[in-house]
Amino acid sequence: MDVVVQKYGGSSVGSLDKIKRVAERIKKRKESGAKLVVVVSAMGNTTNELISLAYGLSDNPRPRELDVLLSTGEQVSIALLSIALNEIGCKARSFTGHQIGLMTEGFHTKSKIYDIDASVVNKELDRDNVVIVAGFQGINTNNEITTLGRGGSDTTAVALAAKLGAVCEIYTDVDGIYTIDPELYPSARKLEYISYEEMMEMASLGADVMHPRSIEIGHKYSVPIYVAVNTGESPGTYIKESDEIMEETVITGLAVDNNDAMVTVNEFPYTVNSVSELFKSLAERHINVDMISQTTPVGDRISVSYTIPRNDLAPALECLESLKTRIGPFTIETNTDIAKLSVVGMGMKTQSGVAARLFSVLAENNIKVKIITTSEIRISCTIDPKDQSKAVSAIAEEFDL
Ligand code: ASP
Ligand code: MG
Repeated sequence: MDVVVQKYGGSSVGSLDKIKRVAERIKKRKESGAKLVVVVSAMGNTTNELISLAYGLSDNPRPRELDVLLSTGEQVSIALLSIALNEIGCKARSFTGHQIGLMTEGFHTKSKIYDIDASVVNKELDRDNVVIVAGFQGINTNNEITTLGRGGSDTTAVALAAKLGAVCEIYTDVDGIYTIDPELYPSARKLEYISYEEMMEMASLGADVMHPRSIEIGHKYSVPIYVAVNTGESPGTYIKESDEIMEETVITGLAVDNNDAMVTVNEFPYTVNSVSELFKSLAERHINVDMISQTTPVGDRISVSYTIPRNDLAPALECLESLKTRIGPFTIETNTDIAKLSVVGMGMKTQSGVAARLFSVLAENNIKVKIITTSEIRISCTIDPKDQSKAVSAIAEEFDL
């Protein structure tokens, strides 16, 4: 019998009524013959509320304690869903990450799954139980509770599906993956299919539908992933291996990220090591640099611009101040008013002229671009946020998104 891993996000289990509705759906699916493992997130806004509680006591709560705290959200929802299922005569049992041997590595609050002990889940499936698993949490080799980063329940679900050789169904309050977030561009199209590669780019570029790491794992283990609305009302989107038809589309999607800040260092000493010193100092503070652009030297000075998550701006500036004591003076400019636009498509690998089309559209609309980066299947650029909606519409029309 086929094993199916389903995941229900926080909005799908946000109230007792919603939990009852999810329970009914699970019961029907079970009766149709599937063996079900169900991963759930914390109810509604619970995780945010728990975070505010912690910050009500400290500006700098210890990550270990945050993990102990945040993991409680999922523990509530698994128990409630299991109670609801048993109440309607569908045998279910709930489990925390620890109980299914979901082992993680890395830092508290952003740990990564490295293995799951499938035996507990399989034993429960053999006993004809629906297995309800807490998303987002695990345990590390020091026996400490860990969490996988915000949105991490998707990753729990896909990793379980990989381990069990199952398909993975992600149920959310949006009804699939769109070419562009419909809130930014209401006439965006829903995609029937998207490749793992494209989805990974979209997810890490600010399309908030799926946790990026879940797609990485899905790709690595070829887990078929289906993203759809939790009511089952309309067909969703399949995330899968790309094929020739998918590769004919030049641009599959456009993502916008408004969470970055741009830092520019001017009059920066141009020596063999200066640029590496700059990025080393950021890496030491675990600050993730995204886009980088450097001017050609004028005399022995250069300018370097780069983007980082806006939340990391304060520590990034501290890094620069301490760098000055090591490599000499330079000036710093920061800009928190930037929008990053990215277009993604497998077709870019084989078709030329995509960048030319993209930047011509922006130029025709009088939109200036600050930094540009590219990968094989992506072009990203930063623009002024006031131009964002004009840019999104113009690109959407040009590439039929
Ligand atoms: N409850 C966690 C969060 O809000 C994990 C998840 O929802 O996937 O980030
Ligand atoms: Mg999510």
